[in-house]
Amino acid sequence: MQRRTKIVATLGPATDDPKVMDKIIEAGVDVVRINFSHGSPEEHAERVEKVRNRARAHGRQVGVLCDLQGPKIRIERFKDGKKVDLKEGQPFALDINVPGDGGDETQVGLAYKSLPDDVKRGDTLLLDDGRIVLWVEEVTGGRINCKVVVGGLLSDKKGINLQGGGLSAPALTDKDRVDIKTAAELRADYVALSFPRCAEDVNECRELLRKAGGHGGIVAKIERAEALVSGIIDEIIAASDVIMIARGDLGVEIGDAALPPVQKELITKSRDMNKVVITATQMMESMIESPIPTRAEVFDVANAVLDGTDAVMLSAETAAGKYPDLAINAMDRICREAEKQRDVIRSTHRIDTEFKFIDEAIAMASMYTANHLRVKAIAALTESGATTLWMSRISSGIPIYALTSHVETRRKVTLYRGVYPVSFQSEANDTMMVNKEAVDELLRRGAVREGDLVIITKGDLTGVPGGTNVMKVIRVGEHDVAAV
Ligand code: PEP
Repeated sequence: MQRRTKIVATLGPATDDPKVMDKIIEAGVDVVRINFSHGSPEEHAERVEKVRNRARAHGRQVGVLCDLQGPKIRIERFKDGKKVDLKEGQPFALDINVPGDGGDETQVGLAYKSLPDDVKRGDTLLLDDGRIVLWVEEVTGGRINCKVVVGGLLSDKKGINLQGGGLSAPALTDKDRVDIKTAAELRADYVALSFPRCAEDVNECRELLRKAGGHGGIVAKIERAEALVSGIIDEIIAASDVIMIARGDLGVEIGDAALPPVQKELITKSRDMNKVVITATQMMESMIESPIPTRAEVFDVANAVLDGTDAVMLSAETAAGKYPDLAINAMDRICREAEKQRDVIRSTHRIDTEFKFIDEAIAMASMYTANHLRVKAIAALTESGATTLWMSRISSGIPIYALTSHVETRRKVTLYRGVYPVSFQSEANDTMMVNKEAVDELLRRGAVREGDLVIITKGDLTGVPGGTNVMKVIRVGEHDVAAV
């Protein structure tokens, strides 16, 4: 059985070696993430070119997701680059007037100058992904006087989160606006927007990308407490193509214990709204150093699969870890095993809902038929991939092949659960000939055998996105026009 859940792996120094790049492609990476928080545009371009070349050599399709840095709110630096050891109960201040490299045991500067306007006495600030906790005693001018609640070593440029959210920093920084142009030049299949507060942030990102000539889908990273507010989250999901559950920053803002129910809710909501969802961060964290995952990590990946995620993501495990390919191998085997469970191969999803579009109705009818007739495969002849997106919102164990002549569509569907890209160009005018060519393609791939049932979906007119209006059930062997 092919794996249905997709694997997103972040590229970085650890994957730059061509041998490692080959190994991660062989291990089954579906989408690579280029993290714009690190590296230069030249490095990003080199990595994208390398992964596309190697994927081509392996006969694979690998999508590219460019992840914008966003407004990471940070402290400045300490004198001589030293770390300071903060002790519980001691005073410590964050001050916009302290020089950039002038921090010490009592105070440090702020790269984010608006922070004193956003906080008040009684707030809790979390530094370095929550490792250090400060309680705000008072704010005077540009200075935030705090008491250390949880101490530890603090070094240059560490991130700051406000517990409960509410920082006013806009989602798109000047750097992001430049990076969007780079993403467009790289023909990114997806662009991930960090820290969106509302749907307008997502719309603005999409507009900037389109203006720069980019075609990619927009991924909204859910990592701010205020994005989760009822109503706002629905608008953000509706405005996006993909939701990323960015558990790192989100967990700092809402507290780690609140993450599991939020993950389940976001996955269900995204699927209900016909959107794709990525579960991200620390899924295989121990594999940065270790060749095997912990049992807890095995359960985390399997539970995300059972929750219905489209994709699971690796960050430092592949970008900077010792075992990038083994981390992908581990995810691969855990996903496959979890997918065998019955509740992920049957669905009552959207049984009571009205459909808005003809192609949506064909997609739903196909999945109902496929699951109940136990067909072997679905071949969707598609221009934009939209039919396969709708199909993949329905839980099923049946593979959905996106047959398309467009490379952008083939790369886009790399993220959809249970959808596999196939390069397909039919010159035939006769509809029976097109069916035959599609089934022959599946036969060639070993996806079906003589006697298997296959569903084909397509439009009367080829080359028209949104034109799917036909569903056909064909038995392999009887698909040969000469035999009909
Ligand atoms: C996260 O915070 O979980 C995340 C995916 O974002 P980043 O890795 O960019 O911090």
